[in-house]
Amino acid sequence: MLFEKDGSLVIRPQYLPKLLPWLSRFVHNSLPSRRFKHATALSILLKESVSAYVELLGQSDVQAHLKENGSLTVFETTSGYEANRKDRALLRTLGARYDELNQHELVELEPALAPIFPRAVYYHGCAQVVSPFGLCQALATQIREAGGAIVRNEVHHAEVKTGGHISLFADDSEFECEALVVAAGAWSAEAAKWFDISVPLETERGYHTTMSRLDIGLNRPITHGETNIGMVQLKEGLRFGGTVELAGLDAPPDYIRGRNIHRITRRMIQDLPPDDSLEISDWMGCRPTLPDYLPVIGPCPNHSNICFAFGHQHVGLSLAACTAKLISSLILDSQSKIDLTPYRIDRF
Ligand SMILES: Cc1cc2nc3c(=O)[nH]c(=O)nc-3n(C[C@H](O)[C@H](O)[C@H](O)COP(=O)(O)OP(=O)(O)OC[C@H]3O[C@@H](n4cnc5c(N)ncnc54)[C@H](O)[C@@H]3O)c2cc1C
Repeated sequence: MLFEKDGSLVIRPQYLPKLLPWLSRFVHNSLPSRRFKHATALSILLKESVSAYVELLGQSDVQAHLKENGSLTVFETTSGYEANRKDRALLRTLGARYDELNQHELVELEPALAPIFPRAVYYHGCAQVVSPFGLCQALATQIREAGGAIVRNEVHHAEVKTGGHISLFADDSEFECEALVVAAGAWSAEAAKWFDISVPLETERGYHTTMSRLDIGLNRPITHGETNIGMVQLKEGLRFGGTVELAGLDAPPDYIRGRNIHRITRRMIQDLPPDDSLEISDWMGCRPTLPDYLPVIGPCPNHSNICFAFGHQHVGLSLAACTAKLISSLILDSQSKIDLTPYRIDRF
């Protein structure tokens, strides 16, 4: 299954030798006791995700950008539902609240779904973004209004100068700063090397497909329990995506994976208009993932004015505001509300 081109989790065979060290750490971290420890550390951050957005955007803007309607995982088979029981139990131990639904209860919540799901789980307390682009625009406006500037440029190297200031060398210019946050997603390991830090960061490539301007009236994000393919109604249209491809940062996208996601979505929704009447686009993104599935949030061990914020795997949008809050209090007050020990960069 791991080498099937359109499986939910795929490894490109030619990338396997390079992947092996990360993969062996990942397997080691999947042992039950370690998994529980890391899931607990992740849940501490996730519990703050919505409240951090409220703090960042203010209550009225949050209502414009986030919809707090919970989320659903739906199951086509009883075996899929049963196989997921352990994961649900773990989530409950970590504080998640959920209700188990039958088909009738599911259809009442989401009438657009096809009647093929005998079981579903409704998770309370989850929110979705109304429009990722709209949220980015709101945050960019806030940065500019607070006196910040957004500069687009590629940084090729950085170095710490005598006295502690940092020089950034970009395409056609050089910047000097008193403090630096390295938040370069899946490319952050490269940036960490500038400060003599090595970190086992991999990319879990994921694909999504958007049917632009299509509104089927889904009320909350829905995950297909057997394949982990997710579907969400955005202002931009209906978006569905997921799957994991381990193939490194440089391999070209393989959109056959998007077509597989598409096939499952067609089965999930009733009365979806035919493809040739829709405007459909595919996308591939690089999720930054460390072998223990925890992000790096914290200072650089040898330079306290450099902080790292990366490795948020599948939940980087959810955790963006929470991470920003933690990093800003580290830089401004040299402290943090949450104990950052589990997220240290030198934990490996
Ligand atoms: C298909 C898919 C679906 C997803 N769905 C969800 C979801 O529903 N909810 C959720 O919470 N998360 C989701 N994620 C995960 C989320 O997208 C990531 O966790 C998140 O993008 C990580 O944020 P980041 O800012 O660390 O990295 P990125 O978003 O990758 O941003 C890093 C930025 O740094 C820039 N950069 C890198 N190197 C340099 C350099 N040298 N100089 C200048 N700039 C540089 C990059 O160009 C990039 O713009 C999904 C991911 C995928 C692929």
